[in-house]
Amino acid sequence: MTKPEKLIVDGKRLDGRGLNELRPIRFKAGVLKRADGSCYLEFGGNKVMAAVYGPREVHPRHLQNASRAIVRYRYNMAAFSVEERKRPGPDRRSIEISKVSREALESVIMQELYPRSAIDIFVEILQADAGTRVAGINAASVALADAGIPMRCLVSACAVGKVDGELVLDLNKDEDNYGQADLPVAMNQFGEITLCQMDGHMTEEEFGRALDMAIEGCKKLHQMQRQALIEKYGEMVSPAEEAHADGGEANE
Ligand code: ADP
Repeated sequence: MTKPEKLIVDGKRLDGRGLNELRPIRFKAGVLKRADGSCYLEFGGNKVMAAVYGPREVHPRHLQNASRAIVRYRYNMAAFSVEERKRPGPDRRSIEISKVSREALESVIMQELYPRSAIDIFVEILQADAGTRVAGINAASVALADAGIPMRCLVSACAVGKVDGELVLDLNKDEDNYGQADLPVAMNQFGEITLCQMDGHMTEEEFGRALDMAIEGCKKLHQMQRQALIEKYGEMVSPAEEAHADGGEANE
């Protein structure tokens, strides 16, 4: 697509969304038989599969940690996920995304319960339409819960961008291409930010507002992730909610 003259017309974006609206999102937990946990996610035009194995033995053994499980995260874009065929295999971008996504999730995984083991997370981008790293983190978080990995809470993620000088939630591909900034954010249920990257430029004031919008977006995603797990397992209470009910010790 060539650059449109305007990406926002009368307060609406070209795909019809308001400025503070997420794309249509659908999670499905537990879709793969051979993985310990999995999640399929459609996030606007993104189609993502996450699979989790573990805790399991670490190979090669010298990577073992005697006091905690190691977490490995592999983000991969399928060759057919983008318009022009993507060259298969890791590249600088996928190595970076794998690293920051692992860090976004690690803080909620109770790694200390499984010394010398590994928790492996695989995220396959089947179709990409901007925001694949945040989509991957959302799907991986549900897949970890589906695998029964003990977690303090879920992690949710979404991006806020700047388009035609306005802050907008959850950029699509055209907005990502022709916008002025992109701020992917991940947050856990305690409100702790576990990923915050930025492409482009925003003023300090815009950054503050963008972060607030991202936090609200993450809260909506958390509800959808929770709903996907309820659909599979029925109602449950997370350690975070239990602690909250006991007097909010979770935040200490
Ligand atoms: P994110 O997907 O997290 O927003 P980027 O900002 O790096 O990450 O990428 C934005 C979008 O650009 C991707 O979602 C994808 O649609 C597209 N893209 C990324 N890498 C490639 C590539 N190698 N070939 C074609 N399109 C790509």
